[in-house]
Amino acid sequence: MIVIMKSSATREQLDRVVNRVKKEGLDVQINQGKDHVVIGLLGDTHTIQDVAFNSYDGVEDTVKISNTYKLTSREFHPQDTVVDVNGVKIGGDENFVTMAGPCSIEGLDQIRECARIAKAGGAQVLRGGAFKPRTSPYAFQGLEEEGLKYIRQAADEFDMQVITEVMDEANLELVAKYSDILQIGARNMQNFKLLQAVGKTGKPIGLKRGISGTIDEWLNAAEYIAVQNNNKVIFIERGIRTYETATRNTFDLSAVPLIKKLSHFPIIVDPSHGTGIWDLVAPMARAGVAAGADGMIVEIHPDPANAWSDGPQSLTEKTYLNMMQEVNIIEKAMNEIKALEK
Ligand code: PEP
Ligand code: MN
Repeated sequence: MIVIMKSSATREQLDRVVNRVKKEGLDVQINQGKDHVVIGLLGDTHTIQDVAFNSYDGVEDTVKISNTYKLTSREFHPQDTVVDVNGVKIGGDENFVTMAGPCSIEGLDQIRECARIAKAGGAQVLRGGAFKPRTSPYAFQGLEEEGLKYIRQAADEFDMQVITEVMDEANLELVAKYSDILQIGARNMQNFKLLQAVGKTGKPIGLKRGISGTIDEWLNAAEYIAVQNNNKVIFIERGIRTYETATRNTFDLSAVPLIKKLSHFPIIVDPSHGTGIWDLVAPMARAGVAAGADGMIVEIHPDPANAWSDGPQSLTEKTYLNMMQEVNIIEKAMNEIKALEK
């Protein structure tokens, strides 16, 4: 449930509503919107369905939200949230943001070379895994802290931000020390303890969609982060598993406008994991921009044939730079389309 205050409501009127909510054993989060203050009621609101909040002075309306997620919803927070990663802004009217880098950090030279290429194409964020969730326990599992040190060094050298995956609570402090954005991998979208823990760090969180995650489950996963007072969630659409086997995953681009309709948090696309095939990455990146995504995350490698993971979906310097040119063209067209909508 949310309580929308009148634009003329006073501090006392707001406090009276908040106190009543707390008396009922619920918690609140307050969103100071452009015109209205919105009070989100957190907890089991069934107990207060009958409280006549509408008759409190200063209350404009009470809306029962049927979704289980609230802080993540557009109803609670009508304006777009812009996630600020040390000056790189993602969401709202900000420019499309690109995150690029290898699937795995393989060494200092490799990640520096990736950073050089990524930057040359206009990426602001360097990606690379140091803790890798691999299907086979015999596959390369990541360089761990050594890898974190390399990606931090490479990103600093090229004036970029870092996004890297944190797989478990045990390594959260370590990953948070080196990374600007904490990536929650698809396999951990519903690791609720991990979501709570990353939420508490206050850092921006790149929340991948689960391999079989529904939109509703994904939004609820974001809610686990938001309820920790962390409003820096970035959704990452990376494809879902369907009956189709010709592509690695089925890239669900309709998630982009749908998430934007249901939530205020930004959403970026991952055409690399979404398709699994390098020459499908650029077309789907273009499509992601056209669908209204706030950015993308893409895998690149100086030598994909010898990559330690995800070589088949990795772009070379040449194919990456080409894609970025194409993406820029679609971005300009999208800016014109957004101007028409206003
Ligand atoms: C990755 O980004 O390399 C990765 C493992 O992604 P996902 O969790 O989407 O599979
Ligand atoms: Mn990968």
